[in-house]
Amino acid sequence: MTFELNEHPHRRFNPLTREWVLVSPHRTKRPWQGQTEEVAQESQPRYDPTCYLCPGNARAGGHTNPPYEGTFVFDNDYAALLPDAPAGGSDEAGLLVAQSERGVCRVVCFSPRHDLTLARMEVGEIRAVIDTWAAEYVRLGALDFIKHVQVFENRGAMMGASNPHPHCQVWASESVPNETAKELAAQEEYFETKGVSLLGDYLSLELERAERVVYENRHFAALVPFWAVWPFETLVVSRRHVHSLEQLEPDERNGLADLLRQLTTRYDNLFRVPFPYSMGFHQRPTDGRAHEGFHLHAHFYPPLLRSATVRKFMVGFELLGMPQRDVTPEQAALRLRELPARHYMD
Ligand SMILES: [Zn+2]
Ligand SMILES: [Zn+2]
Repeated sequence: MTFELNEHPHRRFNPLTREWVLVSPHRTKRPWQGQTEEVAQESQPRYDPTCYLCPGNARAGGHTNPPYEGTFVFDNDYAALLPDAPAGGSDEAGLLVAQSERGVCRVVCFSPRHDLTLARMEVGEIRAVIDTWAAEYVRLGALDFIKHVQVFENRGAMMGASNPHPHCQVWASESVPNETAKELAAQEEYFETKGVSLLGDYLSLELERAERVVYENRHFAALVPFWAVWPFETLVVSRRHVHSLEQLEPDERNGLADLLRQLTTRYDNLFRVPFPYSMGFHQRPTDGRAHEGFHLHAHFYPPLLRSATVRKFMVGFELLGMPQRDVTPEQAALRLRELPARHYMD
């Protein structure tokens, strides 16, 4: 019997994190078994007087938002990290280990419009968001105690987003967080051995095969990675080997804006709901080292599995052993790729 990835249980290796995922395609006899449900749309107003992110509204701690017209950035009123936390640490027998952590938490509003999302913003407006992300990376990364800047968006109540106003967060920290640290080590080792980017090589392979590509333009591509854990997880990779958003040329930033709009539109169209997800950009740590192997990319981790109301849970074997999926990354990519490029609400 020949080994067929789309038929037989197997595990796949993630070269970025060097972890494995279990794939069980035999559990889905057809590419798609689930129902798609129409979920009542809760339409948002353009301006919400009770929203703490809308222009002119009051926030916690006596702050008032300016009447902003593009993007708007401010220090998180409930920051998880503080710039002036006292330094210190402890280590008992290598078992009780703690280390102080300083940092800065910012909030980026994408638009003054309460009712928009990336999928429903103009490409030019998304470009302005990308410019803001790049500027925050540079500004925070330049602080002497900041070694890493994480830009991320939680969208939807399912992912813990408390407010539908389009916004994301930027957490800048004194240490390199776990996920970036794993991916940095793998990319640096690959670059030292082969002299080229791991993700650059991976992207070339994927574009050649095309079976996991969801969308591509001249500067970026979105694909369901070979080792995807979440059902409709995607990886966004720049064609050029750059280390951070700040290094993108104007054309490349426009390409990324186009891709983000295309990808999030397809996500929304999949179950005809505003698709929940956690997404974020991995950029080179700002610790002053070159990190030549680090390749700019973004991850989208959406929790939905079968419909707007059926989500995947990471429980049981996944918590205790390794992640597992039934629908293969190839099947997920095919579904996303074939969805209309026009948003269902337009
Ligand atoms: Zn709002
Ligand atoms: Zn990454």
